[in-house]
Amino acid sequence: MSSEQDLGITESKQHNTGEWYAEVVIKAGLANYGPDGMSGFIVTRPRGYALWEAIQQELDSKFKATGVQNAYFPMFIPESYLEREKDIVEGFDPEVAWVTHGGHDELEERLAVRPTSESIIAPYMAQWVRSHRDLPLRVNQWCSVVRWEATETKPFFRTKEFLWQEGHTAHETHDEAWDETMTRLDQYAELYEDLLAIPVLKGQKPDHDKFPGAHKTTTVEALMPDGKSVQAGTSHHLGTSFAEAFDITFSDEDEETQPAHTTSWGLSWRALGALIMTHSDDQGLVLPPTIAPEQVVVVPIWQEDTKDDVLDYADEVADDLADSGVRVELDDRDERNPGFKFNEWELKGVPVRIEIGPHEVEDDEVTIVHRPDGESITADRDDIGETIQEHFDEVYAKLYAAAEENLDDSVREADSREEILGTLGQHGGYVKAPWCGDEECEEPIKEPLAAEIVMCPFDDEETVGDDETCAICGDDATQTAYFAKNY
Ligand code: AMP
Repeated sequence: MSSEQDLGITESKQHNTGEWYAEVVIKAGLANYGPDGMSGFIVTRPRGYALWEAIQQELDSKFKATGVQNAYFPMFIPESYLEREKDIVEGFDPEVAWVTHGGHDELEERLAVRPTSESIIAPYMAQWVRSHRDLPLRVNQWCSVVRWEATETKPFFRTKEFLWQEGHTAHETHDEAWDETMTRLDQYAELYEDLLAIPVLKGQKPDHDKFPGAHKTTTVEALMPDGKSVQAGTSHHLGTSFAEAFDITFSDEDEETQPAHTTSWGLSWRALGALIMTHSDDQGLVLPPTIAPEQVVVVPIWQEDTKDDVLDYADEVADDLADSGVRVELDDRDERNPGFKFNEWELKGVPVRIEIGPHEVEDDEVTIVHRPDGESITADRDDIGETIQEHFDEVYAKLYAAAEENLDDSVREADSREEILGTLGQHGGYVKAPWCGDEECEEPIKEPLAAEIVMCPFDDEETVGDDETCAICGDDATQTAYFAKNY
C-alpha cells in the first residue's frame, strides 16, 4: 500500500535535479521505463502522449501553412542506401540498430533502423524532381527513429527510440534552401516561446558539430533551471551533398541539369523534457495552460449540510467553462478530501484550480488559484469563461517570465580559458567568448568540465570586433562561441 507521502514528490529540484526530474515524469503519470534489458526506452502514457499530440498539432499546422505536406517512408534503410552519403554513415555508425534476419532467414543486405531518414527519402525525391517546376519540394514525416545512444539516457531528453518529425525539402538555389532552414528554425522558436513558455536562443552549431553531411546546422537552445543547455530543435542546410549522392537534379529554365539544394529539420519529444524540467517544482508537474490536457480543475469543498448546493454550483461553473471552450475537470469524488485533491492535481500540473465552498456559493463568486505560485484570487462567477482566459494569460506570463529571467541572468562573458572554466563551474549557464573557429580550442573546456560550444549567434559581424582574439589560443577570433554544459 502506498501512503499519501509516496504519491508526492520527495526529491528536490534544486539539490537533486536528475532524480527529481525522473520522479516528476513517473509520478505525474507521463511515462514509465521500458522493459528490463531495454534501458533507454520508455513507455509514453496517455498523459505524456497528450502533451506530444499538442506539440504535433501546433507544429503540423505551422508546417502546412507554409507549404509542407506529410508523407511516410519505411522505417528500414538498406545498408547500401545509407552508404551513399559517407558522412551519414560515419556520423551515425556507432548508433545504428541493424536488422539482419527476416523470420529465420538471414537477409542478403542488412537493414538499418532509421536513425534519420535522409538516405531513404533523398532517392525518392530524386524520382519526383525533374524540372525546376517541381521545386520547392517539401515533405515531412511524423515517426520514431532509433539511435543507440552511448551517453546516459533520460526520459524524453535522450532515449534510444524517440518520437519526432523530420522535414525534408529540395530547392533550386542555395539561398532558397537557407530561407527554408531559417523558416523552420523560427517555427521551432515560436513553438517554444508561444506554446511551451520557454524562451530560446537561435544560432548555428560550430562546424565540427554539424549534422553529418550538412553545409550548416542551425539550432534553438533552451536553458534549463540547473544551468544546462538543451539542443531543442535543429534545422540543417544540407547544401548539395545529398543531392549529389542521391542524384536529386532538375533541369533549370535553360534546360541545364542542376543539383538541388536540400534541407532537413527535426524536433523531437526532447521538447517535452525541456517543458517538464523548466516549469515544474517540488510539488510536481507545472504546465502552461496552452498545453495542459486539463486547464482547470474545479474542486468543490463541502460539509454534509452544504453538499448539494456546493455541488450544483460547481457543476454549473464547470459546464460554463466547458461551453466556453476550456478544458475543465470537475473533481467531485466523494472518497477524497479537498487537500488530497489539491495535491494530486498539483502533481499532475493543472495550471489553474477553482475552489468552490459555501462562501463562494453565497457570494456568487469563485476562488481561483494559480498552480505555479499558489496565488489565490476571488472572482465573480459571472463571465467566468472570459475571466479564466485572463488567468491563463497571467499564468503563462508568470512561467515565461521566470524562464526568461533565468536565461537573461545566465549569459556571461569571458575572455580567457580560466575565466570560461571558472564562470561555467560556478554558475553554469552560457559563457560567451570570442573564438577562432578551431575545434581544438573547445577541448580545454570540454575535457575538464564536459561543457562545449552549444552555438554561435548568427550576427557575428556585430559581436566579434576586429581586434578580438580567441579566448583559448589568442589567434584572431572569427565567431562568438556560447559555451555551456548540456543535456
Ligand atoms: P538531429 O537529426 O541529430 O539534428 O536531431 C534533431 C533533434 O532531435 C535534436 O535537435 C534533438 O533535439 C533531438 N534528439 C536528438 N537525439 C535525441 C534523442 N536520443 N532523444 C530525444 N531527442 C533527440
